[in-house]
Amino acid sequence: MTEASPATPDVHDVVIIGSGPAGYTAAIYTARANLSPIVFAGSVTAGGELMNTTDVENFPGFPEGIMGPELMGNLEQQASRFGADVRYEDVTEVDLEAQPKRIVLGDGTVHHARAVILATGSAYRELGVDGEKRFSGHGVSWCATCDGFFFKDQNIAVVGGGDSAMEEALFLTKFADQVTVIHRRDSLRASKIMADRALEHPKITFRWNSAVTSLDGEDKLKTVHLKDLVTGEESSLEVTGLFVAIGNDPRTDLVKDQVELTDEGTIRIEHPSSRTSIPGVFAAGDVTDSTYRQAITAAGSGCIAAQDVEHYLADLQ
Ligand code: FAD
Repeated sequence: MTEASPATPDVHDVVIIGSGPAGYTAAIYTARANLSPIVFAGSVTAGGELMNTTDVENFPGFPEGIMGPELMGNLEQQASRFGADVRYEDVTEVDLEAQPKRIVLGDGTVHHARAVILATGSAYRELGVDGEKRFSGHGVSWCATCDGFFFKDQNIAVVGGGDSAMEEALFLTKFADQVTVIHRRDSLRASKIMADRALEHPKITFRWNSAVTSLDGEDKLKTVHLKDLVTGEESSLEVTGLFVAIGNDPRTDLVKDQVELTDEGTIRIEHPSSRTSIPGVFAAGDVTDSTYRQAITAAGSGCIAAQDVEHYLADLQ
């Protein structure tokens, strides 16, 4: 394909794929830099992971906290105010090596852009049991850093047996009275040091060989139903919080055959920049991050990606 002239009218300066804190922050910055960004926000999940939660108390600037969907609505409005073109559509195919880059939507429409920001986020694995969706944000959580504070002096549980589950359980002992770890096997997958710390902690107890079968309660979570995978025996646990820590999958399906990934499956970026393995392609937010995964870190990296795009486009001239 021949190089498109920067004057070609149907080539956008920048396309942003994803509308979480990373995508919208990148949109605010690129819009304010007069780059007329177009944001493909997703057809059903626009706004990203925070659309699935209630109170967000750790995003700076909101002393009383803010509801997740309200925060995302604000970010979208802020981006639109400066001219970002937000479209609730899914990108189904990309050719990132092409110049200009080719972006195909679910309905077959093709867009071209000189630069692309990938901000597709990541998905926490779910248990897939009855009550999980209903109590999400009402007792069920995927993030101890985000929600641990809400469970002061309460009895809570963590599902999982790996390093992140032990990290969540240990962190939660700062707030909770008692933390029960529910694990499918009779030993932990976590590294020895993390496992020992959890096993020796006076506030942590274990339910081995156990799977969650369903969740109950009225407005909020009250009971976790369990099944012993060895004996088949059913039991229950009264808790106000359940933290699901069984893994997280970066959303890379769209690009995993084109950009380089890390061993953890995130998009590899040239830290501290947002540059990926393909010139003109930048990535931000949880799709690049297997460690922090917070709204503020995603937003910060969206800002970095926007500035990297600005410099990249300036160098193309
Ligand atoms: P996401 O928010 O995941 O957004 C990604 C976006 O990409 C989505 O809009 C999706 O629709 C879109 N997308 C993906 N693929 C495509 C495609 N092919 N085409 C178009 N669009 C696409 N963090 C905090 O700091 N505080 C909290 O209190 C907090 N609470 C949380 C509660 C819950 C229940 C969960 C799940 C997470 C919580 N987090 C919290 C973590 C926080 O939500 C994430 O770190 C943050 O949303 C990551 O932002 P992101 O922009 O990288 O991705």
